[in-house]
Amino acid sequence: MGFPESMLSLEKTRFGGLTRSEVMSRIRGKGNEKTEVRLARLLRKAGIRGWRRHLPIPGRPDFSFRKMKVAVFVDGCFWHGCPKCFRLPKQNREFWRAKIEGNRRRDRSVNGRLRRLGWKVIRIWECRLRGLNNHLQSIERALKQANL
Ligand SMILES: [Zn+2]
Repeated sequence: MGFPESMLSLEKTRFGGLTRSEVMSRIRGKGNEKTEVRLARLLRKAGIRGWRRHLPIPGRPDFSFRKMKVAVFVDGCFWHGCPKCFRLPKQNREFWRAKIEGNRRRDRSVNGRLRRLGWKVIRIWECRLRGLNNHLQSIERALKQANL
């Protein structure tokens, strides 16, 4: 019998030599709800309000403060080539090298276009955000325990 047809076709849907789940495990930053929710939570905690999500300006920033012209992006460490976290996949190295380099080029072009329009651009690596979030959670835990 073997695997059901649907499972086989899923495995065949490979992207740059990676299986769907391998690709998914690398997708955290850009366009990922979880990372943005995490940053929204951090901003709220810090008392920072008045942002808009995905304003139709270059790069559709994750968060924008329109009046102050501040654009915030959370960059996924894999897709944007974080200097600390990025590892080139073993398969199809050239494909991935070109893909990530293309993304970085686009990031730089978006930065330039926004700046020319008078925006300040802030980019946060996903890994930095995760660290911050962990700190916040342990502070919250400690406060809860102290309240008992
Ligand atoms: Zn990183």
